[in-house]
Amino acid sequence: MDLMEKITALAKRRGFIFPSSEVYGGYQGFWDYGPLGVELKNNIKREWWKSMVYMREDVVGFDAAIIMNPTVWEKSGHLKAFTDPLVECKKCHHRFKVDSVEDKCPECEGEFTEPKTFNLMTEVLLGTTEPKEKSYLRGEITQGVFVNFENVVNSSRVKIPFGIAQIGKAFRNEITPGNFTFRSREFEQMELEYFVRPVDVESKDMFEYWKEERMKWYTSLGMNKTKLRFRDHEPEKRAHYAKYATDIEYEAPFGWSEFEGIHHRGDYDLKNHNLSYKDQQTGEEFTPWVIETSGGVDRAMLFFLIDAYFEDGERIILKLNPKIAPYKVAVFPLLRNKEELIIKAKEVLKIIKKGIDGPVVWDDRGNIGKRYFAQDEIGTPWCVTVDFQSLDDATVTVRDRDTAKQQRVAVDKLSDYFSGKLK
Ligand code: ATP
Repeated sequence: MDLMEKITALAKRRGFIFPSSEVYGGYQGFWDYGPLGVELKNNIKREWWKSMVYMREDVVGFDAAIIMNPTVWEKSGHLKAFTDPLVECKKCHHRFKVDSVEDKCPECEGEFTEPKTFNLMTEVLLGTTEPKEKSYLRGEITQGVFVNFENVVNSSRVKIPFGIAQIGKAFRNEITPGNFTFRSREFEQMELEYFVRPVDVESKDMFEYWKEERMKWYTSLGMNKTKLRFRDHEPEKRAHYAKYATDIEYEAPFGWSEFEGIHHRGDYDLKNHNLSYKDQQTGEEFTPWVIETSGGVDRAMLFFLIDAYFEDGERIILKLNPKIAPYKVAVFPLLRNKEELIIKAKEVLKIIKKGIDGPVVWDDRGNIGKRYFAQDEIGTPWCVTVDFQSLDDATVTVRDRDTAKQQRVAVDKLSDYFSGKLK
């Protein structure tokens, strides 16, 4: 099995990610997140929000509606320009993105048609009377922030430079969904729009600053530096409004792949919507420039999973950073049929649950070795075993996922022990 097959199989077997509507054969480009997947995804989003909003003085949060007045998409240029060029095989009629194929069809070696453009916006019909009103599921979460720029400025105390952060779903009618969740039709984005004065040097510095910040964030959560790189967009590939653009790429089993874009969008978006900014102190009025950091939550999660995947013989270990690991601690009674051990272990479980912010789980199936095996595979950083010695001296064994080392810790010190490690 190759690595992608292993990750996909593990994700399904242990409840991270399932094909959407699987009982009806799935649905191409859509995925459902299971009990462990939702924890991992929420942890990634929470860490992002903490670093982008809570740890800063200059960023506020936002949550726009998914469906907006269709005029937004007309003004933003998406109805005209949010397209992918597409070719169709004349023989088997499969369609491909132009930049994903050579000159012959990979399915049947047939010839392609000339490229045609294909709009990626997902249409929705609203209302009950015919003709229904046509609208769109947002193709990117950005526009909801731009059209609210003046609302945010007028209702909060933000002053340029400042940012607006948002996390939410986006939808694209992708022609070729694939590589597991990498290219989906429904996905989540985590984005910052950072507004600056329209000055070349300042805005370029800010662009460089955000590039570094975003790369640091991924490595601070444990992503392997050697698997990450920036890829600057060549001027001819850059969106016409972008002054500078770079992607953060990960070396996935299917090649170097973008999972976050950092773009200097100039004044393009605010101008499209006829919005500007007035400095309350100087009275100066101008259209700010925007530096955007646009990350994909699902792609980040996929790359965190791939990056954390290790094998040691039969054993699989997900070396996820404890901050994003779905479960923080697992608690085991040494034996499941000894009541005094169960009672003590339940007490220990309660103490740990109170002391740390995140799920703590109970496991009493099979022998201890099997339980370690099962927890390693889902990335639980620590396992706590309550044994007969625990009944005498109120200590437990704490076993570390990555080193497999074991340590005796007093029950009344457990809370501090774990909260210290999770800091
Ligand atoms: P690609 O070239 O791979 O289609 P893009 O350049 O169109 O991506 P952006 O519009 O810059 O992507 O979107 C920002 C981020 O949103 C991407 O870096 C990615 O993480 C995420 N994203 C975009 N399209 C998808 C998708 N179809 N499935 C999952 N995530 C996506």
